[in-house]
Amino acid sequence: MNARPWLIRGARVLGGPVQSVLLRDGLVAALGQAAERDAAGAHARVLDAGGLLALPGLVDLHTHLREPGREDAETVETGSRAAAAGGFAAVHAMANTSPVADSAGVVEQVWRLGRDAGWTDVRPVGAVTVGLAGERLAEIGAMADSPARVRVFSDDGHCVADPLVMRRALEYVRAVDGVVAQHAQEPRLTVGAQMNEGSVSADLGLPGWPSVAEEAIVARDVLLAAHVRSRVHVCHVSTAGSVEIVRLAKRRGLPVTAEVTPHHLLLTDDEVRSYDPVFKVNPPLRRPEDVAALRRGVADGTIDVIATDHAPHPREDKECEWAAAAMGMTGLETALGVVQAALVDSGFLTWAEVAERMSRAPAVIGRLDDPALGAHRHTGRLAAGEPGHVTVHDPGAAWTPSPGSMQTMGTNTPFAGRLLPGRAVATFLRGEPTALDGVPVDDAPGAPSAGGGRR
Ligand SMILES: [Zn+2]
Repeated sequence: MNARPWLIRGARVLGGPVQSVLLRDGLVAALGQAAERDAAGAHARVLDAGGLLALPGLVDLHTHLREPGREDAETVETGSRAAAAGGFAAVHAMANTSPVADSAGVVEQVWRLGRDAGWTDVRPVGAVTVGLAGERLAEIGAMADSPARVRVFSDDGHCVADPLVMRRALEYVRAVDGVVAQHAQEPRLTVGAQMNEGSVSADLGLPGWPSVAEEAIVARDVLLAAHVRSRVHVCHVSTAGSVEIVRLAKRRGLPVTAEVTPHHLLLTDDEVRSYDPVFKVNPPLRRPEDVAALRRGVADGTIDVIATDHAPHPREDKECEWAAAAMGMTGLETALGVVQAALVDSGFLTWAEVAERMSRAPAVIGRLDDPALGAHRHTGRLAAGEPGHVTVHDPGAAWTPSPGSMQTMGTNTPFAGRLLPGRAVATFLRGEPTALDGVPVDDAPGAPSAGGGRR
């Protein structure tokens, strides 16, 4: 079966020179003049990308899809549609579902739901401990060997706080070439915490979540990972001190990677003065000096990855008083626009570096570049012969997000009413569009209206 190829005509590839990109047979077939020449003979379909950017398909290392168990918040189908609309070609689905993704059966279920929906490659994250309880290790080997091929393990939402359990987890994941993605939060230091501990929490009289509760776990875990020669990844780094610890660890050659969310790169704890629970998130929004340190950390490569921590909630869990509201924000559809605002337009990152932080590094950390994945590989590279996953971004399409106009079921975007400078306009997965003109392509192969799975 040979579908007609696609030509993405005249995009600035990785923000560099204007080139056309030809997608054929699931791959990037050619760039530049060769792409134009081959497209003419093959009756290619054309996306006019003048003034737009072409990036390797984005990979999210940290997404909450909520299924199974909280289908009132999001499903694999709605969340992966949101991912396609936001420019993502693959997402890692976090394990804090109900039941928890702590067994081969649950990760395989999530993997199949993602494959059948067909909007984006859904890579399940396996829990580190049974039930996220922090006590007994989950079926790490069985999840790694399952069809879901789990390589990222996380109790996200909870910290693996017991140092002996964390040590054993690091030893187990090493054997499957996996990584522990730690939600760094010392639980004893954050009991009842409602926001960042600092001058704003003092003004508001809300219980604080101190920076040291994150930094103490980050410091411990880089030392543990070095001791057992295994990989640790720090989820959603939020403080200047954590950035400094990761920087020192990398300088010593320790096996640590780190991520930051778009919201921690743009928003501060001053937002909490509104008492609008849309700004309640874990880890909490921090001080302006933390935001500045996070931006510098992404710029100098201390922070490897920008990951969304997309966390949709049903309205009733968010639209209530601050103390009762759930923690979390949606992020898949706003990520690229926020990154442009926080890092590109302000000179911290080039678009090629955005591709490194939002595609290449997360693909490598999640081992999506493994040749054994075949057509489902993600390399984070946009070059001839690479998988045909491409994100097309319009850096001039200023827009104002509003909850009602998003694909996610979650209405909890902290960027509602805020002008973002650009947005993803098209996403290609294995050479076929999953989103065009900023919306999911409902007749994309594999979409439900086309009657079944992509493969
Ligand atoms: Zn977390």
